[in-house]
Amino acid sequence: MNAPISQDYLTVPRKLPLSALTNIVGLTRDQLRDALVAAGTPEKQAKMRVGQIWQWVYHWGVRDFAQMTNLAKDYRAFLAERFEISVPEIVTRQVSADGTRKYLLRIAGGHEVETVYIPEESRGTLCISSQVGCTLTCSFCHTGTQKLVRNLTAGEIVGQVMVARDDLGEWPQPGAPKDETRLVSNVVLMGMGEPLYNFDNVRDAMKVVMDGEGISLSRRRITLSTSGIVPEIAKTAEEIGCLLAVSFHATTDETRNKLVPVNKKWNIETLLGALREYPRLSNSERITFEYVMLDGVNDSDADARRLVRLIQGIPAKINLIPFNEWPGVEYKRSSWERIEAFADIVHKAGYASPIRTPRGEDIMAACGQLKSATERGRKSAAQIAAEASA
Ligand code: SAH
Ligand code: SF4
Repeated sequence: MNAPISQDYLTVPRKLPLSALTNIVGLTRDQLRDALVAAGTPEKQAKMRVGQIWQWVYHWGVRDFAQMTNLAKDYRAFLAERFEISVPEIVTRQVSADGTRKYLLRIAGGHEVETVYIPEESRGTLCISSQVGCTLTCSFCHTGTQKLVRNLTAGEIVGQVMVARDDLGEWPQPGAPKDETRLVSNVVLMGMGEPLYNFDNVRDAMKVVMDGEGISLSRRRITLSTSGIVPEIAKTAEEIGCLLAVSFHATTDETRNKLVPVNKKWNIETLLGALREYPRLSNSERITFEYVMLDGVNDSDADARRLVRLIQGIPAKINLIPFNEWPGVEYKRSSWERIEAFADIVHKAGYASPIRTPRGEDIMAACGQLKSATERGRKSAAQIAAEASA
C-alpha cells in the first residue's frame, strides 16, 4: 500500500465540551424559526431573521454572528448568547495520490466518522456518513464489523458538507464574480451507516443541503444508497425526492441473505416491488443498482443473466463495484476479465453498466473501507492482533 502523499494532524480536544447553546446547523427553516421565537425573537420578525441567518450560514459560510452585518448589533449579541454555528472538527485529513481526500471528523461524545471527497474531471462527489458504525452486518463491508454507536444528527450530516466546502475553499467571496463551477457538485450518502435507519435526520439534512438559498444542491445531485430498508423507500421518494441507489449485490435470496443479511427481512422480490414504485413516486429517472464483484460468489454469467431478468421493467443503471479488500475479510475481488464479462452481459441487455474505479485505496477511502479509528479501538486485543497479522 502506498503512503498517502499528505496527512495533517490537527490538535483537537479528545472530548468536546457539551454546549448549552443551540446549534443552528442542521435545523430546517421551520425548526430555526421555532428556535428563534422560543429564544425571544418577536414572531413578526422571525421569518425575515430566518432568511437572513440562513443566507449567512449556508450561502456565505459564515460561522460568527458578529459578521452578520445586516442584523442589528444587539440582535447579533442576543444570538451569540443562545446559539452556535458548529460543524464537526477535522481530526485528520488524508489526500490520496489520486486526489481523493478522506476526512476523519470528530463529533459530540468523542465519536468519529469519515467523509470522502472524490474529485473527477467534470464533477466532485462528497461521500458522507449517516451513522457512526452500522446496525447491519453485510459480510463484505468494513463498517459492518463495527457496532452502531449512534445516529448522526442532521447538523452532523450537513456539517460534513460544510467542512468539505471549508477545506476546499468553496464558499463564495463577497463581491467576487459568481463562480458556477462547483467543487462539491454531488453528494452521495454512501459512507458509514444505513441512511434509512436514520431517516428523519437524513431527510432534514438533505432539505438544508437542497435549499435554493444556501448550499443549493439539486435533488438530482444527491444519491442515497440503501441496503434495502423497504418500508422507508417510498418515504424517501416522497419526503426527499433524491436519486436512489440500492446495494443489490446478489441475484438469489440464498446469496443475498449471506451478503446483505437484512435480505432475510425484506427479500429480493419485496425489495424489487418497492423499487418499481420509486421512479414514479420521486419523479426521477432511474435507480442505480450497486453490485459488488466478489470472486466466485456472485460474479458468474448466470448471475448477470438473472440480474437483468430480475430488474426487467425498472429504469436502471448497474454500477459494478470491484470489491475493496480490508484486513481480515474472507472475500476476494473478481478478476478484471470476469467483471468485464459480467458488465458485457448487462450492457447487451440494454443497461448502462459502468465499472466503478476504486478511488483513494491508498488511504482506505474506497467504498466499504470506512471505519473509525476510535471505534476500532474498542475491539478485543485478539481481534486487533488478528487484523494486524492479516
Ligand atoms: N449502508 C448503505 C450505504 C453505505 S455503503 C448501503 O449499504 O447501501 C455504500 C456502498 O459500498 C454499498 O453498495 C455497499 O454495499 C458498498 N460496499 C461496502 N463494502 C464494500 C467493499 N468492501 N468493497 C466495495 N463496495 C463495498
Ligand atoms: Fe451497513 Fe451499508 Fe456496510 Fe451493509 S454495506 S454494513 S448497510 S454500511
